[in-house]
Amino acid sequence: MMKDDCIFCKLANGVFETNVIYEDDDFTVILDANPATKGHALILPKEHYDNIYELDEEIAGKAFKLAKKLAVHMSDKLGCDGFNIVQNNGEAAGQTVFHFHMHLIPRYKNDAAMVQWKPGKPEDDELKKICAELKIY
Ligand code: 5GP
Ligand code: ZN
Repeated sequence: MMKDDCIFCKLANGVFETNVIYEDDDFTVILDANPATKGHALILPKEHYDNIYELDEEIAGKAFKLAKKLAVHMSDKLGCDGFNIVQNNGEAAGQTVFHFHMHLIPRYKNDAAMVQWKPGKPEDDELKKICAELKIY
């Protein structure tokens, strides 16, 4: 289902014109309007899901399969040196458009894109505690 006030629903379903590099029954892949690097693209499901928490499991599987296919294709075409797959959920995580999407970001040696975090230095005890909390038995 499309959501009325969602820009990505409109772009994914051809209501608004945009730069489409791939389309199938479930997804449209478009160029990001404000690319981090040359070729930065977005995988958009045609159905509306706010984020990964809402995402249908089958669509989740298909999305990653498509990311793999496009990473190979785009790297081949662009001759990039690396590739980031980025997927933000929630404002705190940097999500600005609340329709699930995956960023495909080609990387070039010495490019100015930033997909980084400051590495923490937790004590071993701390890691053991969080591991116990998160472990799925
Ligand atoms: P987020 O921060 O939610 O993970 O990423 C949203 C991305 O969508 C940003 O990289 C932004 O540049 C891109 N974007 C936002 N509005 C539009 C639009 O109307 N068209 C296209 N092609 N990209 C958009
Ligand atoms: Zn939407």
